[in-house]
Amino acid sequence: EVQHQEVRDKHHIIAEGEDIPPPIDNFTDMKVPKPILDYLQAKGIKRPTPIQMQGIPTAFSGRDMIGIAFTGSGKTLAFCLPAIMASLEMEARVPFARGEGPVGLIICPSRELARQTYEQCVAMGQALKESGQYPEIRSLLCIGGISMADQADVLNRGVHVAVATPGRLIDMLDKGRLNANNCRYLCMDEADRMIDMGFEEDVRSIMSHFKHQRQTLLFSATMPRKIQDFAAQSLINPILVNVGRAGA
Ligand code: ADP
Ligand code: MG
Repeated sequence: EVQHQEVRDKHHIIAEGEDIPPPIDNFTDMKVPKPILDYLQAKGIKRPTPIQMQGIPTAFSGRDMIGIAFTGSGKTLAFCLPAIMASLEMEARVPFARGEGPVGLIICPSRELARQTYEQCVAMGQALKESGQYPEIRSLLCIGGISMADQADVLNRGVHVAVATPGRLIDMLDKGRLNANNCRYLCMDEADRMIDMGFEEDVRSIMSHFKHQRQTLLFSATMPRKIQDFAAQSLINPILVNVGRAGA
């Protein structure tokens, strides 16, 4: 534990909460599948950033978490990778049937952000598929401007990870085009912006669709009071991972 704290201190990681998992200093510590490691390497991603060092094991442990780290610190991978790995784990136990899913749901405040996040998930799914050694992990983009026809194939075959803006997601849930019956992982990206934009009620409405115990994650660059209040109401015994800029 002393060693773990030294690693955190060195990387300006402040972790608060009960039973915090040890930070990783390499993606291999997390048993990340080889095809994903190779894909990350090819993108120049060799070592986890501080938010990933503590955020990935925390998210993967199943605990609720609040991840605070500055823009450009690699938050996207910190929540997408655990969503993909949780999907793989679930798929290994009970293969998806038609029309099922998602296991993981990532909500973003803008279409653009949702699209970029979705592309990261697709790329990891593609790497797994091309290896021929892992089951296919399918992601779905749920934003305005995407037609039902574009989504039909993935919807029919079962969705593992859905990346969405709140409005379109609620529309799809209400119309029964997507269901959260299997969903266990809910992540809000740019939670500060989501709350500022008035999406809080939408997020609560999305949460009401969940049937299983839910793991909830909030990621943000800042932690204003309203995020603390939202977390206090919506998260259970969370771990706070806060990464400061070196020297800040
Ligand atoms: P944030 O959401 O925290 O603002 P992003 O997730 O958008 O940051 O990541 C910013 C950039 O850093 C992206 O181009 C991403 O590919 C890159 N990146 C993410 N993780 C790593 C890493 N471990 N090593 C190097 N680059 C990374
Ligand atoms: Mg981001």
